Amino acid sequence: MSKHYEGLINKYRTRLPVTASTPVVTLNEGNTPLIELMNLPAQIGGNHRILCKFEGLNPTGSFKDRGMTMAVTKAVESGAKAIICASTGNTSAAAAAYAARAGIKSFVLIPDGKIALGKLSQAMMHGATVLQIKGNFDDGMRLVQELSSSMPLNLVNSINPYRLQGQKTIAFEVIEALGDAPDFHVLPVGNAGNISAHWIGYSEAAGVTCGSCNHCGGNCAYLSPKVSSKRPVMVGYQASGAAPFLRNAMVDSPETLATAIRIGHPVSWKLAWAAQKESNGWFNECTDDEILVAQKLLAEREGIFCEPASAITIAGLMKDLKADKFPTGSTIVCTLTGHGLKDPDIAIKQSAAPIVVQAERDAIADVIAKKL
Ligand SMILES: *Cc1c(COP(=O)(O)O)cnc(C)c1O
Repeated sequence: MSKHYEGLINKYRTRLPVTASTPVVTLNEGNTPLIELMNLPAQIGGNHRILCKFEGLNPTGSFKDRGMTMAVTKAVESGAKAIICASTGNTSAAAAAYAARAGIKSFVLIPDGKIALGKLSQAMMHGATVLQIKGNFDDGMRLVQELSSSMPLNLVNSINPYRLQGQKTIAFEVIEALGDAPDFHVLPVGNAGNISAHWIGYSEAAGVTCGSCNHCGGNCAYLSPKVSSKRPVMVGYQASGAAPFLRNAMVDSPETLATAIRIGHPVSWKLAWAAQKESNGWFNECTDDEILVAQKLLAEREGIFCEPASAITIAGLMKDLKADKFPTGSTIVCTLTGHGLKDPDIAIKQSAAPIVVQAERDAIADVIAKKL
């Protein structure tokens, strides 16, 4: 292997369903930074070590790239010439980019009027055929399953088991960075593929089979080498208006401004419950206001700009820290799933507008003096 980092399939190929002749489609995704919070812990309570795995620094700006490199690689290996997905935005951005890389076609179904501008611009730039449906994500998910079963289209939503195989590598990276698994891992839950993938990764790293794996039916081929001594407790956060795991029932009209988790019928329902139960974890919910406060706090106090669906991780953590759910001295890893630039409208709406001033030294010095 060359010294240069060449993406997560090349790095973890012995733990992934590829062979030496598999044509790897990669944009060198993965290898994202694990950033320890310096300023927030004192403010949000507890003597804990809190670290953020910033997935917004993947090639298309979200963790979806981890799953898409595997899904598109396997699609191309099987001879597919076109992929399709339903998306709240980030899956379509990743699908479009990896399809472009592979030289195949991509079709993406997005919900009517509820997609962040950055994400839409990505799918359009990479040349996907973008179909805006008069329905929500769950409608789109149902439709792409129907279409891919009757047309020559490879489905790349997280119901595709290769997606979770790629996404599980986040756990390997966290373990490498910390030397072992953390005590807790907290993350947003929408379609619930990512929490399931985290659990698969942590389980395989600890040499244990788990109920979140939809690839091998609990007969996992990737249990060695064992690289961690334990598995973390998994904690999943949902927006109050789109919280099927809190209601213990599907939600027909999900609502939240965190559009990436505006999902009422999660495809990985059973797999995510397995992750919660086997890890002795829990789910909790946050309101849109709590999400925005956390997004702003993280940006202003730590210099990390993530999108609203990612910030729910910090909002939920703040709530659960207040409720004393973490023993003192815990190591807590938070997945920040996507970059804040994905959704500039929300960022601008909740921030102070630029100060309009004459192009004169004194006028500008006046404003600065008041702020110093
Ligand atoms: C897709 C996505 C989620 C939700 O992940 P699931 O696997 O659907 O639970 C959360 N945040 C962002 C930014 C996403 O793109």
